[in-house]
Amino acid sequence: MERAWIHIRGIVQGVGFRPFIHKLVREYGLVGTIKNTSSGVELELEGERATLETLIAVLPARAPKLAVIEALEARYFQELKGFTDFRIVESKTEALRDTLISPDIAICDDCLRELRDPCDRRYRYPFINCTNCGPRFTIIRDVPYDRAKTSMASFPMCPDCDREYHDIENRRYHAQPDCCPVCGPRVFYLDRDGKRLAGDAIELARTALKAGQIVAVKGLGGIHLACRVDGERIARELRRRKQRDEKPFALMCRDTACAEKICEVSAAEREILEGFRRPIVLLRKKRPGLFHISENARVGVMLPYTPLHVLLFGEDLDMLVMTSANLSDTPMMTENEEAVQKLHGIADGFLLHDRDIQTRCDDSLCWVLGGGEYFARRSRGYVPFPIRMERALPPILACGAEQKASFCLSRETCVFPSQHIGDLKNLETFESYTQQIAHFENLFDIKPRALVCDLHPDYLSTRYAEERAGRENIPLIRVQHHHAHLAACMADNGVEEKVIGLVWDGTGLGTDGTSWGAECLVGDFRGFERFASLRPIPLIGGDRVTRETDRVAFALLREAGLSTDEIENGESYGRILDLNLNCPLSTGMGRLFDGVAALLGIKTRCTYEGQGAVLLEAAVAEDRAAFPIAWEGEPLRFDWRPMVCALASGRDAGVGTGRLAARFMNTLIEMAALQCLRAREKTGLNTVCLSGGSFQNLYLMARLPEKLEAAGFRVLRHRRVSPNDEGLSLGQLMIARAALGSRQVGAYEEEDSLSQLR
Ligand code: ZN
Ligand code: ZN
Ligand code: FE
Repeated sequence: MERAWIHIRGIVQGVGFRPFIHKLVREYGLVGTIKNTSSGVELELEGERATLETLIAVLPARAPKLAVIEALEARYFQELKGFTDFRIVESKTEALRDTLISPDIAICDDCLRELRDPCDRRYRYPFINCTNCGPRFTIIRDVPYDRAKTSMASFPMCPDCDREYHDIENRRYHAQPDCCPVCGPRVFYLDRDGKRLAGDAIELARTALKAGQIVAVKGLGGIHLACRVDGERIARELRRRKQRDEKPFALMCRDTACAEKICEVSAAEREILEGFRRPIVLLRKKRPGLFHISENARVGVMLPYTPLHVLLFGEDLDMLVMTSANLSDTPMMTENEEAVQKLHGIADGFLLHDRDIQTRCDDSLCWVLGGGEYFARRSRGYVPFPIRMERALPPILACGAEQKASFCLSRETCVFPSQHIGDLKNLETFESYTQQIAHFENLFDIKPRALVCDLHPDYLSTRYAEERAGRENIPLIRVQHHHAHLAACMADNGVEEKVIGLVWDGTGLGTDGTSWGAECLVGDFRGFERFASLRPIPLIGGDRVTRETDRVAFALLREAGLSTDEIENGESYGRILDLNLNCPLSTGMGRLFDGVAALLGIKTRCTYEGQGAVLLEAAVAEDRAAFPIAWEGEPLRFDWRPMVCALASGRDAGVGTGRLAARFMNTLIEMAALQCLRAREKTGLNTVCLSGGSFQNLYLMARLPEKLEAAGFRVLRHRRVSPNDEGLSLGQLMIARAALGSRQVGAYEEEDSLSQLR
């Protein structure tokens, strides 16, 4: 007989880990204790050495699916403590706010089976959940995580649920949101005027949907608007009512087989689609069509993730439009009264329930690249899981950018990126941003000792940071936008050494006061150098160019010395340019995409950010050619004028739009590779980080890394946070840590600076 001391680090709390260990220990006939610690769980077991070793060997593979085991350490001792049974020791540290909070988890197979079993007491109950599934982050008000501190507090457990909750053999042991039709929340259906209708709420909603109506459906992190996918008229009506012109809608499909009717689904995509996080996955359409849903070559698809969604689909609905219930870029609605009021005239009915959504959390949105998620939006199902860093960080709040706002907080080796927040220029979104910062700081017990923001003085995130740093008298660090992107990609890949960074996006304020966005940087967390860029494009009329993209086409043609007769308002654009009235220069890659899309006649007026790039990608046809590449000035700038001439003459010669779009992007790939080669020659660096919203273009993502790898580069892209501005707060955080370190007197001792900041 021996005693084993086992420490398991990772996400092992609130995921059914202790009951799992209990069962396992019993199965192997061992005795001992388990307790939670600040970084995981600690086990002490007694039994035969061989049995102990077997248990440790099988443990990781059999752990609950929500558990993440980062490290398992075991030591053996001869002296025994004389345990006689297996017990869970309630430790003091459990009360501390250093445990992790689980994201919301899609309904599990066991619950799904009970949901469909007429003999089960939760048959067709829309709030069925267990230790392995159900709401978490979106219902938690405060920590430590127990029912009284969630929006389930107003639903006292009935004796049956209470028994399950306390029975370690039961799969609902310590499941805080456990409930049933007797004690739990209820669903109801309202007509367009908010009048409650008698009858089965879910059947009423299904009938309305089948009849072609638009129904508001309260989900996990917010309210959606749902309608049928077939019949363009309904979706167009939804667009009209929602004032959402062209931005793609997401779909919810009953199952993967239904999704496969319209989309290609690879094995890796299927795995993520069906996984417990259930993001919206951007899938390739099987054939062109569904333009009333998405004008892109891809369409966003998710599977039902709550029991309510499962019941809504029943056996006969295959797919529904499932778009956030909001009005022109305000946050997704979460409250019943607000929805009934603000969606009057938009929704024909409301499928709601009486469990409050404590925290708004939009659906996550991703592509599947290399078998994993490539995020456009990291939100429900992922947040608030931390990203683990190799080294500890002091408590810092990184405030993000503006349009795709997010923030990021650090605590020890954990970094907590927030959920998708939205565009801060909207007042309600900004309020949600400040509320979420306070909520995260409370949940994770973080009191920032420094703030970090973008260089742009007008971003509302910058204003927030300035105001707060002044009020709390703590350091504020300002970080250049593209440097933050670069650092985010480095941190995302656990890299600290100097790298080459291709950072392509729409816009970000440069250190020279102009707008940047097609940058080749060389740097690390401590600093950067702008190694190469793009010939600047004059933005005729400033910000207006992001919508009126023919203004960019005009500028490109004019600078390339070509005729601009084809452009409708050309004369007035020309006058503005000649007088240099509000024509700031920009090296934004997004602008170049917009300009080329307009030049090719694909889109001359955009209704959402990045539409030009999206449509260019959608239009692309097979063509391997590239246009000539020229350079000018310092930093090494890509002179796009010869390319614009070649594009225009190709177009005039009748070369197809799709082939020209391909040649344009091939040219960018060649150009980027040349910039990296020159950077390597000069610096000896061999790692290239790809970041910025332009790398949401999968044509580039399929070919640029390949091209660079063929030249011997190591290419890193985002994996855990988005390449767009949402992911940038992670980079701000890492740069701030480096900056704080170097502020120390004399040699930089990390531990010293950390203890000072703590
Ligand atoms: Zn379950
Ligand atoms: Zn109950
Ligand atoms: Fe950006």
